[in-house]
Amino acid sequence: MKTSRGKKARKTLGFYVNNYKFRQPFQVLIDGTFAFAALQNKFNIHEQLAKYFQSEIKLLTTACVISETEKLGIFSSKVNGATQIVKQYAIHRCGHEKTPICGSKCLQSMTGKNNNARYIVATQDRELQDKLRIIPGVPLLYLHGKAPTLDSPSAASRKYAETKQKDLGMTTWEKENIKELRKQAGIEEKETKMKKKRKKGGPNPLSCLKKKKKEMTTSNKSDTKSGKIKKRKRKIKIASHIKDALLAELKNEHRA
Ligand SMILES: [Zn+2]
Repeated sequence: MKTSRGKKARKTLGFYVNNYKFRQPFQVLIDGTFAFAALQNKFNIHEQLAKYFQSEIKLLTTACVISETEKLGIFSSKVNGATQIVKQYAIHRCGHEKTPICGSKCLQSMTGKNNNARYIVATQDRELQDKLRIIPGVPLLYLHGKAPTLDSPSAASRKYAETKQKDLGMTTWEKENIKELRKQAGIEEKETKMKKKRKKGGPNPLSCLKKKKKEMTTSNKSDTKSGKIKKRKRKIKIASHIKDALLAELKNEHRA
């Protein structure tokens, strides 16, 4: 079970590497809900996520996430523990440092329209997950009990990757094939022109006859030389012997 889950995670991660240029160390953006769930399930985030991804990871958060958990931590010691967790991580600038906003909105602003910074968003917030699924190229990570789960690429992520691949495929295909087709068309054009020229200007029937004659002679050559000799002999016979014989006969008839 563990290995298959790991395989699936690496396959999903591979999708983002191939289609969205994700690179190690993978940046995991953690919010209060994920930190809280990790604390509840005694899940060591860095250690177990590194194992899960079998890759270098970097854990991050924002000032907004910290301030939100701090506010909630006043009412709950468990949430306070989550605050302590997120405080360990590197803080990426979100632009709300002066007036912090709620964590989920902050993370949405961090990914933006195309997740240029290539964050893996770790959150248990279903609403935030749904909002991030609309944006192509945002891997979602959550805890299923004690099991880390990298969500399968969303429909938006898959669709965008497919169209991008198709576009790339088309352009490279077109480039290659346009060259190929131009080459082929050029040759074909030349060939057709040659053919047309031959048909129009060239004495086509004569050339055909010549070819036939050539074919005949070659066939005769290949068969035997006797054919030629016989032909010649026939000509000679008609010319001399037969004529002589005929003349002799005629003379004899006259004598007789
Ligand atoms: Zn913020």
